[in-house]
Amino acid sequence: MDERKVRKIIMFPLPFPGHFNPMIQLARIFHHRGFPVTILHTSFNSPNPSHYPLFAFRTIPHNNEGGEDPLTQPEASSMDLVAFIRLLRQTYAETFRQSLAAEVGGGETMCCLVSDAVWARNTEVAAEKVGVRRVVLITSGVASFCAFAAFPLLRDKHYLPIQDSRLDELVTEFPPLKVKDLPVMETNEPEELYRVVNDMVKGAESSSGLIWNTFEDLERLSLMDFRSKFQVPIFPIGPFHKHSENLLPMIKNKEDHVTTDWLNKQDPKSVVYVSFGSLANIEEKEFLEIAWGLRNSERPFLWVVRPGLVRGTEWLEALPSGFVENIGQKGKFVKWVNQLEVLAHSAVGAFWTHCGWNSTLESICEGVPMICTPCFTDQFVNARYIVDVWRIGIELERTTMDRKEIEKVLRSVVIKEGDLIREMCLKLKERATVCLSIDGSSSIYLDTLVNHVLSFDP
Ligand code: UDP
Repeated sequence: MDERKVRKIIMFPLPFPGHFNPMIQLARIFHHRGFPVTILHTSFNSPNPSHYPLFAFRTIPHNNEGGEDPLTQPEASSMDLVAFIRLLRQTYAETFRQSLAAEVGGGETMCCLVSDAVWARNTEVAAEKVGVRRVVLITSGVASFCAFAAFPLLRDKHYLPIQDSRLDELVTEFPPLKVKDLPVMETNEPEELYRVVNDMVKGAESSSGLIWNTFEDLERLSLMDFRSKFQVPIFPIGPFHKHSENLLPMIKNKEDHVTTDWLNKQDPKSVVYVSFGSLANIEEKEFLEIAWGLRNSERPFLWVVRPGLVRGTEWLEALPSGFVENIGQKGKFVKWVNQLEVLAHSAVGAFWTHCGWNSTLESICEGVPMICTPCFTDQFVNARYIVDVWRIGIELERTTMDRKEIEKVLRSVVIKEGDLIREMCLKLKERATVCLSIDGSSSIYLDTLVNHVLSFDP
């Protein structure tokens, strides 16, 4: 019997779509290579296991046994992301250790634990205790990880904390990043942000390998930079979703069909798809500027307004009365879409994005130009690369945008500058396809990764 068939991989994703989605895609890749996969998931944001029949799911309880989940209490919902991640890590540190020990003691032969980089030390100590090798999944790009890893240097050189007077200054150690592109976020707990980042970097460095959702042609220089500074083996095997798209049919719900019907009625490359991901928030004032800018641009648009996206509102109620009706079929507001499917639709001409790493890769794979409005952390780095290095998008800065500017940018990306940017998009899309081909770098790294994890002592 093939040895890998009896060697189980345990995966521990962070419970947010931008982290869970790539982990599940990676699970499919491993499963396709013959590994049984068990997903350990926090009780917070727990997915429906019936959507993932290929894998075993185990729910990790929160630490407040018999009581309320600390993460769903009102104090938690008013926390910023840094404080929330601190609470998340505290809430599951001990119960993760117990769940991992129970899995490992269950009699099956283990291969390794694959954990999200943000869990860092939580998983390092737990895996060491039960004698399981730990591999880390990094769901951000290499360039942003290198910037995270340089936080101590960036603090020593006084780039951090960011000073308003230096925003447009080049960070000479990290071209083409400017000071305003450094991957930080507004938080009441700045020291905690440094702690989380430091923990993530140290946890990655001490692991048995890093699996990266990127590809060599996209981040060649950043990969070289990383290799010159770190010894840990790395496996840039992305884009994950393109390995796995044919491995399992997408689950579609009723809303997905309604969205596809609407897209089917639009002209080719005419629609601006707007989404700021699963975590970002905007103010009501910004929401209204975006809404008017979209309307005034006269482009058809599909806009994901997640409940909770606009601070202090439920959904669309901040719009003036009659706004949605006036727009009619020209624009569509949705709460969530199947983004992979939307980006692959021929009617989509541009993606106005917050530049989350998954969204960036997904857009690259479909050759869709981006309008970049980063909100926090690595999104700033990704946006700089999209605009200045890969030249597949344009910048629309959140701090300065108003409805006039939005209208101007939306008209330009789809109509005028679109041609040049689109050409670059198609080239990069082609390079992603080549990396995934049988002799491509991502396929070769995947073979190496499989051999690497099989070389761990059972
Ligand atoms: N996504 C989706 N539907 C939506 C919005 C987002 O399926 O309406 C998915 C998107 O395809 C991506 C993930 O959610 O895989 C968002 O991850 P990303 O890294 O782009 O941003 P984050 O949410 O972590 O800020």
